[in-house]
Amino acid sequence: MARRKQLVVSSEVKLAKRLRPCHHNKKGHQIKKGEVVLEVRHGMGTKGYCLPCAREMLTAAEETLQGLRADLARFLPA
Ligand SMILES: [Zn+2]
Repeated sequence: MARRKQLVVSSEVKLAKRLRPCHHNKKGHQIKKGEVVLEVRHGMGTKGYCLPCAREMLTAAEETLQGLRADLARFLPA
């Protein structure tokens, strides 16, 4: 059986092992060693996002999924 296509990009929550930039705002946001970082697959590597940006990204993703569910429901018979 064919593997199901992943809708959500591969992501992982980790603790930063070093000081690193947040890719949403490289100059304004920093992720310090030991702080939470959301690592999102990007091409062959990953990009890290700070906690406030990660929360916004998760909220946006949830809204996208809810919108898709609502769109699917519109095509089901009442
Ligand atoms: Zn950020």
